[in-house]
Amino acid sequence: MLYTSTRDKSIKVTAAQAIAQGISEEGGLFVPCELPQFSIDRISSMVSMSYIDRAKTVLREFLTDFSEEELSYCVEGAYAANKFSSPKIAPTVNIDGNKNILELWHGPTCAFKDMALQLLPYLMTVSAKKTADGKTIVILVATSGDTGKAALEGFKDVANTKILVFYPVDGVSPMQKLQMTTQEGENVAVCAINGNFDDAQSAVKSIFTNQEIKDQLAEKNMMFSSANSINWGRLVPQIVYYFSTYCDLIEMGKIKAGDQINVVVPTGNFGNILAGYYAKKMGLPIKTLVCASNSNNVLTDFLKTGTYDKNRAFYTTTSPSMDILISSNLERLLYHMSGEDDKLVSSLMSQLAEKGKYTVSDELISEIQKTFDAGFTAEDCVDETIKNHFDKYHYLCDTHTAVAVKVYDEYVKSTGDDIPTVIDSTASPYKFSASVLKAVLQGNTPNLDEFEMVDELNRVTGADVPKPLASLKDKNIRFSDVCNKEDMSQMVFKLLDL
Ligand SMILES: *Cc1c(COP(=O)(O)O)cnc(C)c1O
Repeated sequence: MLYTSTRDKSIKVTAAQAIAQGISEEGGLFVPCELPQFSIDRISSMVSMSYIDRAKTVLREFLTDFSEEELSYCVEGAYAANKFSSPKIAPTVNIDGNKNILELWHGPTCAFKDMALQLLPYLMTVSAKKTADGKTIVILVATSGDTGKAALEGFKDVANTKILVFYPVDGVSPMQKLQMTTQEGENVAVCAINGNFDDAQSAVKSIFTNQEIKDQLAEKNMMFSSANSINWGRLVPQIVYYFSTYCDLIEMGKIKAGDQINVVVPTGNFGNILAGYYAKKMGLPIKTLVCASNSNNVLTDFLKTGTYDKNRAFYTTTSPSMDILISSNLERLLYHMSGEDDKLVSSLMSQLAEKGKYTVSDELISEIQKTFDAGFTAEDCVDETIKNHFDKYHYLCDTHTAVAVKVYDEYVKSTGDDIPTVIDSTASPYKFSASVLKAVLQGNTPNLDEFEMVDELNRVTGADVPKPLASLKDKNIRFSDVCNKEDMSQMVFKLLDL
């Protein structure tokens, strides 16, 4: 199995090269040259497997340059029983009739990014061993909250890696801050910076490209890498849970092998829903992929009209992980759907960089619409959806999941297409306790701090509080450094003992 670039298909690299390198040199994203095919019989044979074995079955086809021992080391390390609060890793819960929820938040940080970021460090270190003489990988992250914590948990104590996370001192929630400052592990460091997220992000980028720093790292047999969401190593783990939920629906008696399902995904950077598209192309019987956005509905407009236009108001919403105007992974879909037209993709991506806008042909958007539907949920409907869903089904969902639930209900109303459906749930409601509690109490929120809010939400709804969040209160603060953005490179030296 080889990988090529969305902007130059003469490029051919192995999985290990794609993962170690992250992004192709000319700026394109790595994509598989062809997709492995799974027959219905083969999918049926996965029903009796554990999540770990389902993961090995799918990933083996993509990581053909990994040995069986390497694959086992990666997958068993990532999805170990003590890291996930459900033995099913990503359980599927039937809500009512054909409506099912795929819970992707049972990992250590209670959000769906764990599904990929638990595996990525293993894939990266094995890839580096094959392609970069086993250098120690140094991950630098600028975070506005969730990604930093999920990356810290993923890389924590993974051999031959170090991770440094910078966050804006006043730009994260108290819960997110505590999640990071109490981080355990011998190879981790966290530092607040005086500035906003963009300051942290641009400082990290300039450290990445600073030759003097790179040389000093090389002397110590270290190299920088990035854990961001365009790395193939973050996408491929996500294909697994679509196969897994399909197998679970068979096991639950909700479908028979071969039946079609629909999938609804609360979408930001288009990674999660793209993984569903890959699963479909591999033979998993998915009929329609419904892309759900919040008020930042740039993808809804694109999927309905064929014009992608990021020149619009940016809204800060209660589903912050979907507050995105450039969905990077859409580039991969355009490549596959256009018949692998790398010239077209390069041209569209330069139009996006220069004018913030592009339009695809009627033919291409019609082709995309055969597989994708889209909708968005305005901010004032999110609370109502959380409340109604809880009252009706006694199922509590977070703000991101609520966006998808509402889009799904509207989709069924307008199309009548109510075949068995999986709605991805991307965060525990307790990760966004303040917003969820406000929704459940219809605005009558008592004046409480973040932890009291968790207890109150538990008292009002009876939903279980995930252990990693409940135990935060009793943890020691390990990282209290704050620095100016000009001093971040000094901080990197200090944290790496250079
Ligand atoms: C990252 C994230 C999303 C968006 O996923 P994409 O793969 O970027 O589309 C949705 N919900 C939550 C809670 C997230 O953390």
